Amino acid sequence: MAQIVKECDYLVIGGGSGGLASARRASNLYRAKTILVEAKRLGGTCVNVGCVPKKVTWHAASIHETLKDAKNYGFSFKETKAFDWQGFVAKRAALVKRLNTIHEEHLNDESIEYLHGTASLVGHQTVNVALDGDEFNLVAVKAKHILIAVGGHPSIPSDIEGSELGITSDGFFELQKQPKKVAIVGAGYIAVELAGMFNALGTETHMFIRHDQFLRSFDPMIQDQLMIQYERCGIVVHKQSSQVKVEDIGNGWKKLYYKDSDGESTDEFDCILWAVGRTPELSRLHLDATNVQLDDKSRIKTDKYQNTNVHNIQALGDVCDRGFELTPVAIAAGRRLADRLFGGDRHADAHLEYDSIPSVVFSHPEIGSIGLTEPAARKQYGDSNIKIYNTSFSSLYYSVFDNRQDAIPCSYKLVCVGQDEKVVGLHIIGPGSSEMLQGFGVALKMGATKADFDRCVAIHPTNAEELVTMK
Ligand code: FAD
Ligand code: NDP
Repeated sequence: MAQIVKECDYLVIGGGSGGLASARRASNLYRAKTILVEAKRLGGTCVNVGCVPKKVTWHAASIHETLKDAKNYGFSFKETKAFDWQGFVAKRAALVKRLNTIHEEHLNDESIEYLHGTASLVGHQTVNVALDGDEFNLVAVKAKHILIAVGGHPSIPSDIEGSELGITSDGFFELQKQPKKVAIVGAGYIAVELAGMFNALGTETHMFIRHDQFLRSFDPMIQDQLMIQYERCGIVVHKQSSQVKVEDIGNGWKKLYYKDSDGESTDEFDCILWAVGRTPELSRLHLDATNVQLDDKSRIKTDKYQNTNVHNIQALGDVCDRGFELTPVAIAAGRRLADRLFGGDRHADAHLEYDSIPSVVFSHPEIGSIGLTEPAARKQYGDSNIKIYNTSFSSLYYSVFDNRQDAIPCSYKLVCVGQDEKVVGLHIIGPGSSEMLQGFGVALKMGATKADFDRCVAIHPTNAEELVTMK
């Protein structure tokens, strides 16, 4: 039975991207009495096992690629393969720890009460918190509003014998030794990002995908170009594949039994990594104590205001059904929700617009995408209303390369609609795409047309200038 009883205006369950942002806005700006509960480490997926450690690893991989390129610019190195994986992993872990501490300091500074523990609902206004996960050390919290921002965890296929011998993206960040040969199963963001990094850092990389392309929700141009680049740089892609069994063969090596377009086969790997999507983190929440409804993927159903069907319970971020598992989406939704709940009449309609959200994949090379793909635009507006602008080129960076085959091309596409050619989709792949996308995100959000793009004077010589000079 819970001993201590606390009361507050806003109880936030989950100290990840969305929960932290919403709690801080509510307390800082509106002085709502806020309690935040986090079961593991502050910062959630993004800080601990997502965006942040992923991006610094991507930088390490990119540096290795640049070192290889350097000879084309007259530099000579005896050894470009000497990467201290373990040393790098330790530095990365220290960065994450620093960020955990900074988040805790923010909560203290901003008068948010932080409970380190596991929250479970006992009613639509009450939550029990098992402090430090101890079921016998319970605090009961009664709240006017409860935000569920508990995120998700990586899925592991349960129907494959021995699947527990593989790791997920969480396990990737714990690898103390660089694998020699990795099998990555999956075709989404995480699979292509981790495959690109492993390969660039010198691990023999195999990808197992169920269909013929990666990133099947992206524009076909992106899918085609990424496949060309990944096969070109030596990643072995097993298309139309499925896994049958994983077997431990000793010394850290595993045998993977699989089927692909060439038939049944086996191969041996010292790392098998499942990147087949994520599952909402609902197991400890006891949602059954309320009537909060889920969709068919076990995500919490929400309306555009992040309301669940229970009037004082809201949900956002990866655990909800809005369809964008991205840190800035969780943050933006969290801030707008705090505005609406505590900001008075002025913010009565505050909500996140879930359209034209820019997204980047940190593959090698990077991908950027905003808005509708070409097939989606054709379906929505009809072929006769669509105009497509395409370009493919090689960056000036490669112009002095000894072997021009080493150049990584850029491919860009604009999807325009109607007489005024409003740009409703922008898709880019090539070096520098990630940093380039944000500004174009602003333009699309403002409703830019192709003529607006043309009116903007190009910046030369850059890759980005190609987007304002397309014919
Ligand atoms: P989370 O950040 O997952 O936070 C949820 C928190 O709730 C967790 O800390 C969890 O411990 C806690 N919790 C769960 N249950 C309970 C409970 N019962 N009681 C108390 N606490 C609980 N997005 C990007 O925008 N850019 C990227 O580059 C990017 N890279 C990624 C790379 C990887 C490998 C992964 C896995 C994800 C990446 N993402 C990226 C996605 C991004 O990390 C998530 O979309 C984002 O973290 C979701 O935020 P959230 O607040 O919904 O949940
Ligand atoms: P995704 O949903 O992006 O991709 C998972 C993919 O795995 C599916 O698209 C599917 O592709 C494939 N898949 C599913 N089940 C199986 C199976 N049984 N066997 C083989 N393949 C399977 O999930 P991720 O885990 O990659 O990432 C989760 C989310 O995190 C992303 O959607 C993204 O929102 C976020 N994220 C964002 C990043 C960024 O912003 N840069 C980076 C990393 C993650 P198919 O149907 O083609 O087989």
